[in-house]
Parts: sequence; structure tokens; C-alpha cells
Amino acid sequence: MDKFGYMEKYGFEQLCLFHDKSTGLKVITAIHNTVLGPALGGSRFWNYENEELAIEDALRLARGMTYKSALAGLALGGGKSVIIGDASVLRKDPIKREAFWRAFGRYLEGLNGRYITAEDVGTSTQDMVYVNMETDHVVGLPGRSGDPSPYTALGVFKSILACCNHVYGSDDITGKVVAVQGVGNVGYCLCKYLHEVGAKLIICDVSQERIDKVVSEFGATVVAPDAIYGVECDIYAPCALGATVNDDTIPQLKCKIVCGGANNVLRDAPVHAVALQNRGIVYAPDYLANAGGVINVSYERAEGGYNEEASLRDVNFIYQRMLDILTIAKETGRLTYEVADEMAEKRIEAVRAIKSIYTHK
Ligand code: NAD
Repeated sequence: MDKFGYMEKYGFEQLCLFHDKSTGLKVITAIHNTVLGPALGGSRFWNYENEELAIEDALRLARGMTYKSALAGLALGGGKSVIIGDASVLRKDPIKREAFWRAFGRYLEGLNGRYITAEDVGTSTQDMVYVNMETDHVVGLPGRSGDPSPYTALGVFKSILACCNHVYGSDDITGKVVAVQGVGNVGYCLCKYLHEVGAKLIICDVSQERIDKVVSEFGATVVAPDAIYGVECDIYAPCALGATVNDDTIPQLKCKIVCGGANNVLRDAPVHAVALQNRGIVYAPDYLANAGGVINVSYERAEGGYNEEASLRDVNFIYQRMLDILTIAKETGRLTYEVADEMAEKRIEAVRAIKSIYTHK
């Protein structure tokens, strides 16, 4: 990979590699854009096959965070850290674990607030407590904003309502059928919101325990994981994995709307966005639909501390922004994700312009 070429093409600011010999910490931090504010994005702990894959993942995820925060209206940029290693091995050694995460915290402190971290795949809130012993540039700490999943699910729920308004002319989704793929932290909360307003649920998961809970609490119908794409429904809500809208699944879909909590729902954005549009299926841009969690965690940095009321106001606003995007896309004949990208880019460019006015006197 030509790293500087990639950074130039996609507008990255910084790519950092950090190694701490005493703890074995190997971290890559990609800072995509800090025009709107410091780059925020979680730290992913993964046993990457090689460094190239880790760097690619950090770059791709950091850029996604820029767009997510920009479209959500946050004063934050986009960044991501990936840590190479096996998190389960580290968890078995409490002394090494503390030292490891404090080494990471000291490294973050050295970035001087350009990048703020949070937990992500393979990391936990306790890891972030250790990070916080060395730096304040970390969010998602216990006793503050808490689990982001209910807020993510609320944003997805509001996005589904906006999509229904757009497609059916009403937010009333009583009796509408929603196929929820994955009933983990986000999927479970989404089912709760949908059940409360009278939607019918069809679900799948690979965990029987999680399935049983949603069946007993919300009366959902269960299908096998591979069967979820082909069920008769109004909305397909992917809440498990990325890239589930692809060449194999698009011909199976019988829904009118794709709107869920998973990241990177489209395997290949232009190709599969066009394929959905050609089939008359409305696609809700994933990074807006699932922005509730980052909105909520961002309020940990608000003056006076975490403010749930303000957070909920912003999460609820996802509804209007989604509706605007769907309307513009329909009126201009463009793809919904392109309209979303353009909105995010315009906001960044407008703020970049005013910053240059005041810094270049
Ligand atoms: P989770 O691990 O709690 O839930 C995922 C669920 O999907 C689990 O119950 C798992 O058993 C199930 N699953 C795994 N493979 C499956 C398969 N092949 N078919 C059906 N089910 C399968 O994760 P989560 O926190 O609920 O996140 C769900 C998705 O939303 C992820 O893609 C995540 O990146 C994204 N997301 C989450 C948040 C958040 O606040 N948690 C925020 C933004 C995006």
C-alpha cells in the first residue's frame, strides 16, 4: 500500500505507529480529519494477520468516524486506533494489563488531545479506566455516559421512522414487519423500541440465549441466520455484521427499506447502493443511522459533564437529518449515501474556510 498516496487521496492528516517495549504494546492511530474538532474513535484490539491489514483497518475506520461525527453535527473529527495482539491473553494477567493500558494512555497524552479514544471491539471499559489514569483524552468511562448501545438503537429506530415516513407517508409503523439481523446490544434495544410501537419482528442470531430473550419479551418470530434476507418484510435492519448487502443478498431482499445499526452495510458502496436503488429499496446511510452512540459519548466532554437531555435531543434529531437526505436524494435522483457524504463534506469545508480566515491574518 502506498500510504502517503492513500492519505493524500482521502485527505488524512496523520498516521502514527507506537511501540512500548516493556509491555509489548503495538498501536497504530489514524487521524483522518480534525477540522471540526479533535478526532474521536475507539481503540480496536485485534490479532491482525499482518501490519498492513492493521494499518488499512485504522485508516478506513478513522475516515468513517469523520463522516459520522460531521453528519451528526458534533464538534469532533475522525480517528481510530488499532492495537495488534490477543486481548484474551492480556486479560489473564492483571498486572501486565494495567501497565499495557497505562502505556497506551501515556502515548495518547503525547498526542496532546488531537485524538480521543473509547472502547471498541476487543477492549473494555476497565481497559479505558487504566488509560484514564494517564490521560483525559478518553471517553466511555464507567459512571459517565454508560453503554452507548441504547442510544445507537434509538438513532436506528428514529431512522426507520424517517424511512417509513418517506416510503409510506407516515411514521406509524404499527403492523409493519422489521427483519432484525443480530439481537445483541443494539439489536435487542431496537426490538424493544419497535415492539413498543406495534411493529412485528422477525429476528435471527447465532446466540440462542439472545434469541430466547427477544422471543419471550417481544414475541418475535425466529428464522435461521441465512434466511433473514429473503423474509417478507418492510424493513431489513442489519445489526450484526458489515457488508451484508451484496451481490448474493440483494436479489433475495423483499423489503422496501434497509436501515440498521451495523457499520459498512454495503459491501461495495457505489455498486450495491445502485443495485438497491434499481430494485426500489431505500437505503438509510448507516453512519447516520448508527450515530446515536457517538453522539451520546461525546456529551461526556460537554462543559459541566455528561448531559443526557442534550444527548437525547441530538439523537432524536437523526430523524430529521435522515428525512432530509432521503428527500434530497429522491428530488435529485442521487444515491442516499452520496447525499449524506456531500452534507458531511460541505460542513467540514465550511468550517475549514472560517478557520483559515482567522488563522491566516
Ligand atoms: P453485539 O456483539 O452486542 O451484537 C451482535 C449480535 O449479532 C450478537 O448477538 C451476535 O450473536 C449476532 N451475530 C453474529 N453473527 C451473526 C450472524 N451471522 N447472523 C445473525 N446474528 C449474528 O454488537 P452490538 O454492539 O449490538 O453492535 C452490532 C453492530 O452495530 C456492529 O456491527 C457494530 O459495529 C455496530 N455498531 C454498534 C454500536 C454500539 O453502540 N454498540 C454503535 C455503532 C455501530
